[in-house]
Amino acid sequence: MSTLYITHPAGLDHQTPLGHPERPDRIRAIERAIEKERFTLLRRDQAPMAEMESLALAHPEDYIVRLRDISPREGLVRIDEDTVMSPGTYEAALRGAGGAVMAVDEVMSGRAANAFVAMRPPGHHAERVRAMGFCFFNNAAVAARHAQKRFGAERVAIFDWDVHHGNGTQDIFWDDASVLYCSTHEAPLYPGTGALSETGEHGTIVNAPLNAGDGSEAFREAVDSVILPRMDAFAPDLIIISAGFDAHWRDPLASLNLTESDFAWATQKLMGLADKRCGQRIVSLLEGGYDLEGLSKSVSFHLDALMGRETGA
Ligand SMILES: [Zn+2]
Repeated sequence: MSTLYITHPAGLDHQTPLGHPERPDRIRAIERAIEKERFTLLRRDQAPMAEMESLALAHPEDYIVRLRDISPREGLVRIDEDTVMSPGTYEAALRGAGGAVMAVDEVMSGRAANAFVAMRPPGHHAERVRAMGFCFFNNAAVAARHAQKRFGAERVAIFDWDVHHGNGTQDIFWDDASVLYCSTHEAPLYPGTGALSETGEHGTIVNAPLNAGDGSEAFREAVDSVILPRMDAFAPDLIIISAGFDAHWRDPLASLNLTESDFAWATQKLMGLADKRCGQRIVSLLEGGYDLEGLSKSVSFHLDALMGRETGA
């Protein structure tokens, strides 16, 4: 079975101000990387726009309608200091969530072994009723709830290895015992959440903060000793990765020192768990990653691992 790669040109139409790290070139760098011959076996598809019904699994309808209504016809609308809407933003965000839904459909129905959605804007900072941190719709939350509603998945586990804590995903699943949210992230760092003590109403939030300067060893230790045992014990029916690559040593927004091999290693670990617990089902969604070389290499290693190849991890 194949690995599915989902994207859409609309991801390039979400414009941010000059100098903003979350920029269209991120997608272009990934596209260039997967033109290489070793990725010809990737099955590719285009992300559809998410239906209101899907978005409403993670956000109230009036929040969704308000975002649509404030979308500018020209120029930029500022939501907060670093979250901006351009004329193409709403469709890009819809296709980010729609790509996540499609990935779940393909993986849960067994048509793809696993899937990676390369879209922007990212999603994990988007709370139920608040866009922030470059994010508008929480794609991972939409994907998890869609798997539950459409396919009857009882338990979904999310591993968010973006260098920033996924406050939005934590917010949405804070009191939901059916979704395990696990995060490694640098602390202190934006958005300031993600302390060890934040465990949710049912103990299904697992935060493993790392210190600035930490690298492979600390990351692998946190994954091996904290994240994986919790995910294993949870026995998920689907694993979702909030795959941000800004913990890479080259990234300008943070100070962890992971390499592309660490992302391949973590991917392989999750694949081992998915093999044991949930028929190999993994849906991976692009979050951050702002150094173009660090991002494209990391995505290549992540995809190699998803395709079942040795990566030297
Ligand atoms: Zn990030």
